[in-house]
Amino acid sequence: MTAYEAVIGLEVHAELLTQSKMFCGCAVVDSTTAEPNTVVCPICLGMPGVLPVINRRAVELAIRVGLALNCQIARVNVFARKSYFYPDLPKGYQISQYELPLAVNGWLEIDLPDGSTKRIGIRRAHLEEDTGKSIHVGNSSLIDFNRSGVPLLEIVTEPDIRSAEEAEAYGRKLRAILRYLGVNSGDMSKGVLRMEPNISVRPVGSNELRTRTEIKNLNSIRSLARASAAEIERQIAIYERGGTVTQATLGWDESRGVLVMQREKESAHDYRYFPEPDLPPLVISEEWIEEIRRSLPELPDAKRDRFVRLGLGAYEASVLVAERSVADYFEAVVGSGAEPKKAANWIINELFARMNKAALPSESIAEINVTPAALADLIRLVDDGTINNNAAKKVLDVLFERGGAPAEVVRQLGLEQTQDTALIEAAIVKVLDANANEVTRFCKGEEKVLKFLIGQVMREGRGKFPAELTNALLIEHLKRRC
Ligand code: ADP
Ligand code: MG
Ligand code: ZN
Repeated sequence: MTAYEAVIGLEVHAELLTQSKMFCGCAVVDSTTAEPNTVVCPICLGMPGVLPVINRRAVELAIRVGLALNCQIARVNVFARKSYFYPDLPKGYQISQYELPLAVNGWLEIDLPDGSTKRIGIRRAHLEEDTGKSIHVGNSSLIDFNRSGVPLLEIVTEPDIRSAEEAEAYGRKLRAILRYLGVNSGDMSKGVLRMEPNISVRPVGSNELRTRTEIKNLNSIRSLARASAAEIERQIAIYERGGTVTQATLGWDESRGVLVMQREKESAHDYRYFPEPDLPPLVISEEWIEEIRRSLPELPDAKRDRFVRLGLGAYEASVLVAERSVADYFEAVVGSGAEPKKAANWIINELFARMNKAALPSESIAEINVTPAALADLIRLVDDGTINNNAAKKVLDVLFERGGAPAEVVRQLGLEQTQDTALIEAAIVKVLDANANEVTRFCKGEEKVLKFLIGQVMREGRGKFPAELTNALLIEHLKRRC
């Protein structure tokens, strides 16, 4: 049996978060909610004879991405016409970049499930404009041009990805970086970020690049992973029965979990790329590039490494940096005096569990009722022995529900630990009297019953018994009975 490996290169389309469109003054609006065809003008409708003007902010955001992906930024950029016919492209061509893209030769480091990392080469990133949107209703099709002319950055990798898991890791990391940079919301379900894997498979050990297929417009990371896995499997099955893979464009039906054949692929020359005569070359100064470089935020990998230096495990750190708002929240908890490791545990194990249950995505952490300062206070109350861990979880439930100050909630619920040993001993006596069997077993050396007995005593205390002291008192009483 032959062992196969996948060869995958990803093309990602990211709409840039500008106020206005790429070549006209129309506003960029949420195309899933805005009234159709309300933000259009002769330029983005593709009327003959109009003149496009380059959006400076779009160029700046594209440079930000290029620098974050370790690319060289081209000082001289040329826009090109990519000609094709499509109902949502009334000009008959899309203004894009071809021979001289804005950014080239970069890389992105991905994190694999086994904890290792791998560099994926970035071949190019170029600016272009989005098309309109076709909406199919029954037997007719409607077109919304609100999206027409929205700035779009296409980011293309080298064929360095070797599995569906690596494709998923790449998609996740790229999405995180775009969100950190503030250039894209990452809201894939709205179509503002779309991923298209080019996939071929070959026997392990071979270096050839075989015929590839392309899966169009995947709109979730989950779809990227599932569709890639399905296509790899399909191609392997073809080779296994002695067939050949034909170059094609595929779609993915997420609800049914199946690939859909769309069309045979056009080759590049069909587009008849030629320099856009209505736009002068875009010349970018070295000073501008350096200014943008200096304005870049700390990116996820650097943040993760810094969190590891604070004492976090690599896994915890990568969970916290996946969303910038989560990382910021963590830093605010630490800034309010909590020990980093404890802050990370409370966020990942306790806050995330409550947010999950409430169907809140992790990025909404900035809006929850538990402020970073409150979480730090809660951790302090556990540290100084005012409440135990279980009580703290009850307090967190309340804070999550309606906010407030932890010390206040502790008082309201009466959860302060008692220092009254007589009270604890009374509970111990009650529990031991009621569990004579377990006491006998303990005396015979069966230590594991201790865990059961301490559980019973702590329950009597309703969260108010301090763990260490109670444990010591229980053992003392047990020994007296043996
Ligand atoms: P096009 O512009 O026609 O879509 P490109 O040559 O720019 O094609 O490549 C698009 C993507 O396909 C790139 O990410 C590239 O790495 C990837 N790619 C190229 N050849 C292969 C192959 N044989 N198998 C898998 N991916 C490939
Ligand atoms: Mg392509
Ligand atoms: Zn317009």
